[in-house]
Amino acid sequence: MKTLKDYIRNVPDFPKPGIGFKDITTLIGHGEVFHQAVDALAAQFEADKIDKIVGIEARGFIFAAALAYKWKKSFIPVRKPGKLPAKTISEEYDLEYGTDKVEMHQDAIQTGDRILIIDDLMATGGTVQACTRLVEKLGGVVAGIGFLIELTFLNGRSRLTGYPVSSILSFDSE
Ligand code: AMP
Repeated sequence: MKTLKDYIRNVPDFPKPGIGFKDITTLIGHGEVFHQAVDALAAQFEADKIDKIVGIEARGFIFAAALAYKWKKSFIPVRKPGKLPAKTISEEYDLEYGTDKVEMHQDAIQTGDRILIIDDLMATGGTVQACTRLVEKLGGVVAGIGFLIELTFLNGRSRLTGYPVSSILSFDSE
């Protein structure tokens, strides 16, 4: 029988040489398997201890929105600079060369909101770490961080000490 992991397509040397891109379109392209993956993510957290779900652009939206729908929770998009129309806050994070930025609407979170952050994949953990800073800047509490996939060899968890982090599938090499 095929496992969830069998539905992830590894695309070597994308977007650049040496990177093994974990393509989720082959998983979400199967309705039953997509459903199973969302339920597996849901099983990692307790819905009644979460107020709102943050999804990270763009593939994080797919899983975060499905969870928000399942649990009838608010969905908050974290986006690349210049995409959100109203007043935003932003956080910068380091890339291999240079920096990048993520943004959130300033009125998306109220003090004390318990936030679950969801993305498709954790590599170095830099993106999600910047998201924890966005949440906390607005007075939110990071109640959990969930991924479908974790690249354990990049040790992203070391940036997320103290947060409850869960992933469904792990890869220990490119
Ligand atoms: P990082 O900030 O290094 O944890 O990178 C995480 C973000 O980059 C996520 O939003 C992923 O979708 C994307 N990403 C990084 N590495 C890969 C990979 N090997 N395959 C697919 N997506 C990746």
